Amino acid sequence: MTATNANTEPPAWRITGLFWDQGRPRWVASRPGQADRPLELAPGTTVRLGLSAPRGCVGRWDTERGRRHVCASTIDASGTDAQCADCAARDRGRLLARDAYTDDRTYTLYLAWFGPGLVKVGLTAAERGRGRLLEQGALAYTLLGRGPLSAVRAAERAIAATDHAVERLLLTRKITALTNPQALTDGPTALAGARPSIANAGLLDLLDPIEATVHSNTHAFGLSEPLPQTYDTLTGVQVPAGLVLRVEAVVGRVLIGAQPDTDRPLVVDTRLLAGYP
Ligand SMILES: [Zn+2]
Repeated sequence: MTATNANTEPPAWRITGLFWDQGRPRWVASRPGQADRPLELAPGTTVRLGLSAPRGCVGRWDTERGRRHVCASTIDASGTDAQCADCAARDRGRLLARDAYTDDRTYTLYLAWFGPGLVKVGLTAAERGRGRLLEQGALAYTLLGRGPLSAVRAAERAIAATDHAVERLLLTRKITALTNPQALTDGPTALAGARPSIANAGLLDLLDPIEATVHSNTHAFGLSEPLPQTYDTLTGVQVPAGLVLRVEAVVGRVLIGAQPDTDRPLVVDTRLLAGYP
């Protein structure tokens, strides 16, 4: 007979992060040996989180097995990176960003608007639909063309070398832009104007064309008005910690809500919370 230790606690659920699934934001919690648990984050709901130590690596998505590779490493308690060095080195999305990965999937090139003067060019696997655009908090976007990774990546670089768009934008700039009413309204016109000049410069010649349509994500984010000029920002976590927030909008991986005691807006980069049990 085998004795079992009744005092052994199962491993805790850990926040893996905020992800967009089928056009809706969800918190995902994971636990070794179990399927990821998605939790709804609709505007109007109240989020109550209790965070404790130690902060653990969130692992990485195993695309071949279609499930999360669970990792037991603990990680730095501060910062926005919730992967250990080993998982980060093997994460497909990060390899792709470093040009250290290729595959034979079809990729889509996009132009994304985050506010006046904040236009980004990027690429995403076509099968992901608008998931990548939602994840980044793009307020509006247009798809420029499709093709194999090498051709799409070359077009991305060529466009980033013009003054139409950049390849990277800091999150702080994206958040600040949300206080500007024009960020919510002017994207479609700006992108519709930029698209023909990019095409006419021959920068999309190697890609399969996509119909010129501009899409807005503001409704999906729950953004009916700009962020107030005065707001608080979560800068870090000191465990044990609690967070209570009435959700007003979810922009990419940023949660915007009202603090119940003061009603002041609080902006939370949810990557700071990932990895905490
Ligand atoms: Zn890890």
